[in-house]
Amino acid sequence: MIPLYDPRPEIVELRAQLDARIAGVLDTGAFILGPEVETFEQNIASFIGVDHGIGVNSGTDALIIALRAIGVQPGDEVITSSFTFFATGEAIDVVGATPVFVDIDAATMNLNPDLVRAAITPQTKAIIPVHLFGRPADMTAIMTIAEANNLLVLEDCAQSFGGAAEGRQTGSMGIAGAFSFFPSKNLGGFGDGGIITTNDEEVATEARRLRNHGSLIRYQNETFGYNSRLDSIQAAILDVKLPTVQANNERRRHIAASYNDAFGDLPGVIVPSIPERDRHVFHQYTLRVLDGERDNFASAIQERGVSTAVYYPTPLHQLPVYANRMHGQLTVTEQLATEVLSLPMFPGMTTHQLETVIETVIESFSHLKSAA
Ligand SMILES: *Cc1c(COP(=O)(O)O)cnc(C)c1O
Repeated sequence: MIPLYDPRPEIVELRAQLDARIAGVLDTGAFILGPEVETFEQNIASFIGVDHGIGVNSGTDALIIALRAIGVQPGDEVITSSFTFFATGEAIDVVGATPVFVDIDAATMNLNPDLVRAAITPQTKAIIPVHLFGRPADMTAIMTIAEANNLLVLEDCAQSFGGAAEGRQTGSMGIAGAFSFFPSKNLGGFGDGGIITTNDEEVATEARRLRNHGSLIRYQNETFGYNSRLDSIQAAILDVKLPTVQANNERRRHIAASYNDAFGDLPGVIVPSIPERDRHVFHQYTLRVLDGERDNFASAIQERGVSTAVYYPTPLHQLPVYANRMHGQLTVTEQLATEVLSLPMFPGMTTHQLETVIETVIESFSHLKSAA
């Protein structure tokens, strides 16, 4: 079975370096924050092109802590996409604010800026664009709307490490960015982890306070925060992987381009467009399968030994916890949830695996059409 994602080839290549850095951490006997985390935070900040990086426990915590650090409070509304991983909406609720889900643009699967504008109320405090599947959201439009309406923009960069919109890295455009180092993300650790990026000194200080029980100085707890620190060992591992991330993203882009060449002409299939001005880093390669054929197509591919997945089968506004909390009609979101299908995508995929996926998908497609 060809998996959707396999981290092992990357690990094999870096094994000696990883072993040495991990051993170095074990030798110090210090495992929480410390110099490894500080070095990594600085390296991430310069990679993204911001002044501050604040390492935390997960991408979810990066969103929660960033929301509080930028000043989102109970009663505030935060406009975001319903077509995302649950954590995007969850973080908004966890800080006591209210998510306002608006529809997406079918071509990019990201927030539709016109609908963001239409959803603004006097309670709106912030917008969370999600750079879904590694494709930067329309940041030019979103930043313009935010500035005109005095709103804060927190970028959900969990899937977009190394992606850029018109030359600017995701995570450097809004007041803050929230990244995840979950193992399958474009920069993945060997466990949970995340980071907040920002140019704002006060937001950075508040995030540092919140991640460590509301204290910057030991036992001087100034507010109620979290135990959400990045482990030294994860920072060391991620710091070894960081210099390889852009080459890995290039490999992802190459795989996506090969898939597009192979599947672009299949009738009833819409392949993801590859933007020219923005750098899409293909966290996922996600097709649309029209005419209600998605699940049949997925089964046919899987029966032939290639994994597929549906990201995401249930938009957030259709989950029971969010029932009746939708804003307007989310027609595109609901339709895409029935059409999307993700194929294997990871930098360590061999040419042989890539060719096998392509042959299998085409064979499954012709089988489906001849059976119909
Ligand atoms: C993975 C993900 C998160 C959460 O990150 P974790 O590290 O798993 O907590 C948030 N938003 C999106 C869009 C994600 O894909």
